[in-house]
Amino acid sequence: MAQKSADDNYRLPERQEVGALFRSPEFHRCQPSVQICQPEEFVRSARACKRYWARSYAGWRRFTAAQPGPAHRALSSVDKVGRVNLMITQNVDRMHQRAGSNPLELHGTVYSVACLECGNSIGRDLFQDQVKALNPKWASATESLDSGDPGSDKSFGMQQRPDGDIEIDEKYWEEDFNIPNCEKCNGFLKPDVVFFGDNVPKERADRAMNAAKECDAFLVVGSSLMTMSAFRLVRTAHEMGAAIAIVNIGETRADSFVPLKINARCGEAPHSNDGT
Ligand SMILES: [Zn+2]
Repeated sequence: MAQKSADDNYRLPERQEVGALFRSPEFHRCQPSVQICQPEEFVRSARACKRYWARSYAGWRRFTAAQPGPAHRALSSVDKVGRVNLMITQNVDRMHQRAGSNPLELHGTVYSVACLECGNSIGRDLFQDQVKALNPKWASATESLDSGDPGSDKSFGMQQRPDGDIEIDEKYWEEDFNIPNCEKCNGFLKPDVVFFGDNVPKERADRAMNAAKECDAFLVVGSSLMTMSAFRLVRTAHEMGAAIAIVNIGETRADSFVPLKINARCGEAPHSNDGT
């Protein structure tokens, strides 16, 4: 059984926004090593990157403190009894790994950081250390987020929002926040995730597609299948005659041809032990 899972309890609010940023023509023209853009374009893009990495750096500790939910644990238990040939996730948060699964990460992960130019990637912990070394004042403001004076000048106006995101006062985007560059080529670093509209790397896409072609059952959990990279796996499994079921709240792109649909949040749907 090939199983696809995405936790609908998890959100990465910046993903679409950041994807657009890293894909924008202005950004690619404006990387420090390729400065052929107008100065105002460079300033705008550089500021947006600083904004992204400053918030992401500040929120990392809380982000990594989140625990797997019931859906992650349930899927892991099915995986452990040998019912799953391949688990594929669209999530980038490593929650399935923390619950004991070892999924193929179709869209990459925020636990690594990749160079836009040479493709070299490094672990996120190393990147966090590099940011800290380059930005000691930001680091100490982040570390005192719980105990310090939220919103003050000393804390760069950082405030924890109820949803876990970090808000930083607009006036501090232009503070001297330095983003580490690639150690190999000095290129710009981005989260190692596949953004909306980008292609999944071929080797990864092929592995997922082969599993979809060969499986006899395909369970979709917590995905609307709106991204083509996920939808085409389900469509292929269907064309190859696999049994398919979907657990998802709301519409999915495959509703018209998948016979079994359970309209529920994946953390709340009853799960059986027979893997079907
Ligand atoms: Zn590089």
